[in-house]
Amino acid sequence: KEPTDINALADEYLRLAYHGLRAKDKSFNAELITHFDESLAKVNVVPQDVGRVLLNLFTNAFYATQDKSRQSQSVTSSAVEMAFKPTVTVTTLQKRNSVEIIVKDNGTGIPDAIKDKILQPFFTTKPTGEGTGLGLSLSYDIIVKGHGGSIEIESTEGQGSEFKISLPAS
Ligand code: ADP
Ligand code: MG
Repeated sequence: KEPTDINALADEYLRLAYHGLRAKDKSFNAELITHFDESLAKVNVVPQDVGRVLLNLFTNAFYATQDKSRQSQSVTSSAVEMAFKPTVTVTTLQKRNSVEIIVKDNGTGIPDAIKDKILQPFFTTKPTGEGTGLGLSLSYDIIVKGHGGSIEIESTEGQGSEFKISLPAS
């Protein structure tokens, strides 16, 4: 573990996620909004591990917006559906005893029926070749077991999702 600037790490992996998806899918298109807390203190983490967690969260978020985009295009589009603007918002926050990273998307959301399954290894709703279902289970191991942090998930089907990672202050 080493003292790590989470804003810089998030920025680096956001670019990776964005360009990775763009390279695979020419029609990929999403607005990215970042709110990086300038007062963020460095936290003691394994940067590559936390980077993998962020890469997966960002990729999942972008993916959910593209999925919803495709869905709304396949329906005879109402004015509201036409106006759907895929957006991912990444926020960092300095709390008294922790640093938070919040990844919010306005994509498909997570149906209630699968909410308790998404942290399980190999659970995926993605087509073969697009998902391994290991991202979130690995994230849980890295954040909770490896760093004493937490992951909170809020999601509404059809509206979007919010994943909050909390890492204890060093
Ligand atoms: P994978 O991305 O390979 O499917 P993950 O462990 O990262 O594996 O995610 C597991 C499942 O959780 C996804 O297949 C999807 O059904 C759901 N999921 C994760 N993040 C989101 C999100 N931001 N929006 C909607 N569903 C999500
Ligand atoms: Mg994933």
